[in-house]
Amino acid sequence: MRPGLVLVATPIGNLADLSPRALAALKAADAVLCEDSRVTGGLLARQGVAATMIPLHDHNEAAQAPRLVERMMAGEHFALVSDAGTPLVNDPGYRLVRAAIEAGVAVSAVPGPNAAVMALSLSGLPPHPFLFAGFLPARAGPRTAELARLRGLERAGLGATLVFFEAPHRLAESLAAMAAAFGAGRPAAVARELTKRFEEVRRDDLGTLADHYATAEARGEICVVVGPAPAEAAGEADLDAALRAAFAAGLSLRDAAASAAEATGLKRRDVYRRALELGEG
Ligand code: SAM
Repeated sequence: MRPGLVLVATPIGNLADLSPRALAALKAADAVLCEDSRVTGGLLARQGVAATMIPLHDHNEAAQAPRLVERMMAGEHFALVSDAGTPLVNDPGYRLVRAAIEAGVAVSAVPGPNAAVMALSLSGLPPHPFLFAGFLPARAGPRTAELARLRGLERAGLGATLVFFEAPHRLAESLAAMAAAFGAGRPAAVARELTKRFEEVRRDDLGTLADHYATAEARGEICVVVGPAPAEAAGEADLDAALRAAFAAGLSLRDAAASAAEATGLKRRDVYRRALELGEG
């Protein structure tokens, strides 16, 4: 195996999801860089792999990355795993990967389980484009601000399915905050315990999901998927602003309507009608 770094995805709950390539990469590495040696040690022991483990987590990554890169430049080969799923996705490793790339160290990956992508594909919501938003802030104020920021992006034209990670004890309040930000009628899905014994995907609108989890205790690991803003809703909110901006720029009624239709995605005929109203007002 040539020197360098290989990013190895590990199971998100079902141990049978460790791929043969992942296992081979872990066996071949000079050392396995891991978040928590108890978790990774358990995984390796079950596979009969006796590997050296080097802890790499949020608290030591900045200091460790240059040293590890030096060792790889000197010929060592490391595998990077996280506690579960695909490394770097809401897990450590980004700084090391950047440092390795900058130093010209070969970086490769063994793909595999990822909770966000699995939740997206099971959600029944449009799979692309999608925006992976990770965890929302834990406190109510910053969470509301972040959701308002995402809603603002939607108003500006973002039409993507949103994927969040969420902790079970915050699910109910997060769903209520999402319903307030995106509208209670927005289609969504809550994916729980993926690949595990009690796997469940609940598909409904945000208001109904928020009501459900206000009384039902949510257990285990959770992803929330929120469908894209309906094109009309996003456009209507901005139509007047787009038309006024076009008028202010000196565009004719026809050109203002054309440019606002382009910006909002609304039908030209409807935009023209509104442009007439505004132009007359
Ligand atoms: N790197 C991981 C991956 O690729 O899926 C994600 C790590 S992140 C720190 C952990 C969060 O991912 C959990 O709190 C949960 O929101 C989500 N998650 C992980 N495993 C899951 C599962 N089996 N079912 C649902 N969500 C899961």
